[in-house]
Amino acid sequence: MTNKIYYPLNDNTGSVQLIQSVGDDTGIVNSARVSFGKRIDSIEDKDKKLIKYLLEHEHGTPFEHNSLSFLIKAPLFVVQQHLRHRISSFNQISARYVEIKEEFYIPQNFRKQSTNNRQASIEGNDLENEKANLIYTESLKVAYSKYQELLSLGVAREQARGLLPHCTYSEYYWTCNLRSLLHFIKLRDHANAQWEIQQYAKAMKEIAKEIFPETFKIIDNN
Ligand SMILES: Cc1cc2nc3c(=O)[nH]c(=O)nc-3n(C[C@H](O)[C@H](O)[C@H](O)COP(=O)(O)OP(=O)(O)OC[C@H]3O[C@@H](n4cnc5c(N)ncnc54)[C@H](O)[C@@H]3O)c2cc1C
Repeated sequence: MTNKIYYPLNDNTGSVQLIQSVGDDTGIVNSARVSFGKRIDSIEDKDKKLIKYLLEHEHGTPFEHNSLSFLIKAPLFVVQQHLRHRISSFNQISARYVEIKEEFYIPQNFRKQSTNNRQASIEGNDLENEKANLIYTESLKVAYSKYQELLSLGVAREQARGLLPHCTYSEYYWTCNLRSLLHFIKLRDHANAQWEIQQYAKAMKEIAKEIFPETFKIIDNN
């Protein structure tokens, strides 16, 4: 099992780590071949062809007999996007139980609003990056110090957290099967998805590639 920690946003804070996994490429083949009462211990060429066939024809169920659990640290807006992927299990740190640390995602490069896609952003080479950074970081300082002030007054954590911005880091477990992960990667490691969640999807793909190398070779070659 890979225990490498990935830092998708290159800030040494946002991270993705595999906690546990069950299953491998042979499990996909075996669950498909059970129809014929067959079982393999290692992958041969005909098994790779079977995996390719299953993927191409969207025979999804053989990809469900496995599991991957990730520990993820991500800005709240990424968590919110990730949470939409319902065919998975999810547990998150509670800002009611614990005081939230002063950990915020600060973009290294600010992007511009796209003019032809209301959801998207584009390269911001002509943006005043330093000025944007100053506005952003100043408001984070104010928000966090006011959060602390409310806590010092005795205000409940569950109310004081209302001041914390979308870029506040949060931590969660996310468990899914490979079918669900492939669906997530297809949607989120995609140019239409926000750049930040794309980086998380790429990291999760790298991790999953080590566990299901043949499946990902077929996906990457097609
Ligand atoms: C680029 C992008 C932009 C987005 N923008 C928005 C947005 O502006 N606003 C917004 O609200 N969301 C947005 N989303 C979220 C999107 O609508 C989905 O909620 C998210 O991508 C999860 O996809 P899913 O439902 O297929 O995945 P999952 O929830 O993991 O479900 C996987 C599959 O299971 C099946 N399934 C699950 N639940 C049901 C059900 N109740 N009924 C029938 N079948 C089910 C479906 O086949 C589904 O594809 C966006 C997503 C992307 C990738």
